[in-house]
Order: sequence, then C-alpha cells, then structure tokens
Amino acid sequence: MTQISTDTLAQDESAGGTMRGLIKHHAGTGLAFSDDRPIPSVGPREVRIKVKKVGICGTDRHIWEWDEWSAGRVPVGIITGHEFVGHIDAVGSAVTQYTPGQRVSAEGHITSGADYNSRTGNAHIAADTTIFGIDRDGCFADYIVVPESNVWPVHPDIEDKYAAIFDPLGNAVHTVMAAGVSAKTVLISGVGIIGLMAVTVAKAAGASRIYCTDINPPRLELAKELGATDAFDARDSAWIEQVRRDTYEGVDVLLEMSGAPMAMDQGFRALRNGGTAALLGLPARTVDFDFNKHIIFKGCTVLGINGRKMWDTWYQMEKLLLSGRLELDKVITHEYPIEEFDKAFETMISGAGIKVLMNL
Ligand SMILES: [Zn+2]
Repeated sequence: MTQISTDTLAQDESAGGTMRGLIKHHAGTGLAFSDDRPIPSVGPREVRIKVKKVGICGTDRHIWEWDEWSAGRVPVGIITGHEFVGHIDAVGSAVTQYTPGQRVSAEGHITSGADYNSRTGNAHIAADTTIFGIDRDGCFADYIVVPESNVWPVHPDIEDKYAAIFDPLGNAVHTVMAAGVSAKTVLISGVGIIGLMAVTVAKAAGASRIYCTDINPPRLELAKELGATDAFDARDSAWIEQVRRDTYEGVDVLLEMSGAPMAMDQGFRALRNGGTAALLGLPARTVDFDFNKHIIFKGCTVLGINGRKMWDTWYQMEKLLLSGRLELDKVITHEYPIEEFDKAFETMISGAGIKVLMNL
C-alpha cells in the first residue's frame, strides 16, 4: 500500500503538477481549501483517478467538527473525503485490469489482502484496514490514488450522482441484505442518509412492511414517500405496541441505523422472538443495554455491520440501481462546486440538506 512510486512513467506524468483539495489543516473545526497540493504519483499497483463528483458523509462531518473520534484517528494535513466517482488518469506499471479514461469509483477500505478475513472473503473487516479520507489522503481533490484492487468500474447506465454515493448506499445495501428482508416486516430505527437509503433498498428487496422511527418529523415524512408503511416519532414509544399488534408479536427484522440508546432499546422491544437485528449505527459511547430481555431470552440473531462486502455488496448495488427500483433523488438534495465547500458542509450539518454532493 505504499505510495512511494517506483514507476518512472507515472512519476513523469505527475511531475510538478498541483491540484485543488480540501485539507484537514489543523486540529480544530473546519477544512481548508488548497489549490497547490502536489498531484500524487502512482505506485506500480495503483491507479490515479481524476475526481469528478464527491459526496459528503456523516464521517466527514465528524472530521469537520473534529470530535473525539476524529481527533484520535485522523492525521492533520490529509485530504478528506471517501465518496466519489471519476475517470482513471494514470495507472502503475503492474496494473493489469484498468486503463486511463475508464469511469470508476472505489472501495474506501484498503487492506494488504494478507490477513485472515481478507483471505476468507471478508476483506471489509480486515484487521489492517485503513480508509482513504480518514487515515490517508481522500477524494475531496482533483486526483486520488488508490490500489488497483480497490477500484470499482462504474456501469455505463449508472449516472455520476449515484456512482458518487456507492459508499453510503453500500452501507444500506449491506445492512438490508445481511438481515434478509424479502417477505418480512422490517423496522428501520434512524432515518438519516443511510436509513433513508435503507428504506428504498428494503422496498426494492421485497420487504413486506417497513416501519421507521426517528426524532426528525420531516425525515419521517420522507421515509413514507420512499416507501415506509408507517413512520413514528421515537420520543413517544406508544408505537411499539401498535407495531407488535400489526406484525404477529413484533417485526421480523430490525435495521438499527441511529446509534441512539433509546432507539436500540425500542427497536429490540419491537423485534419478535427469533428475529434478526442488523446494527449499523454507532453509539457515541458505551450503551446500557438489557441483553437478557433483548437478545438471550428473545433468541434473536444480532449482526454487526461494517462497511460493504467486497465485492458482493457492490454487485448487489449495481443490480439494484439497474433495476430502476431505488429512489435516491429525494435523498440527494444539493450539489455545489468544491470551492463552495463551506456552504455544502453547512447545508449538510444544519439538516437543510440530506445527501450533499460537490463537483470538481
Ligand atoms: Zn461515508
């Protein structure tokens, strides 16, 4: 995973050039725009991609706000961002699968491929995972360099605005598909960006009834527009009895997307005995949780969901998008040129926008 190039052709191609980028410039709030970042060179097994469109993730918000998690992980000075689409601009001397000009996105989880999980089909939970835009330079820039093994070629019938958000869409698809929702009743707790995507994915995947909870009434309305059977304000837990009555003692599947302790407690109360819970939302701190009542006596299956499966989830995403059954246009609310990144982040952080894109 070295970025020190031994490929003379690639080094020549990048010699002396500079590019635009959004840099985590200091250990505090915000990002800084730079237009004199050196264009990165490619190593033998890497490709350089000219970035066209990027998505702002909840993780980028944490890095912007410089919370405890970011301060403990993200190196100051890196280019941020990990959701993007672009075109290959240069390839290393040992790259065999790609050529310049191809439209691509990339899986953000980078591993050496040598650990136990990478070798057994679970590279998304590899012990040595690093993520671009978090641990090393990301995609909020004119160019990004990624290992050839992380590249995903984009199907010609998939528009850039969808290809730019494969990363979060993949979280939603991975969660929904891991739980299995076909002909099942489903509760989605938390309808932020990924929760809303999960609504349309669960509907496309054949869920029987989809219930949603959140504490944001406009998002609950949007969840209904995207296909939720009903959507409830989690601040009043009366909905649990109603849902349990309507679903033979509780929903078959819980997709936990909020990380909020209250939503977890409510979600497991609404889950029937023997049901499946897939957990994607990250609690901010250790949670007080009733294991006996919610898991052990309930006999339920609990799945931790991290990232996207390489490459199962990516193929599933492509097929779902090409089916025409995903409704993402109401979730992608704003686009800005990268120079207006302040406005873009403000739109996302204030909640005025949901998925906000930036164009390079
Ligand atoms: Zn993300």
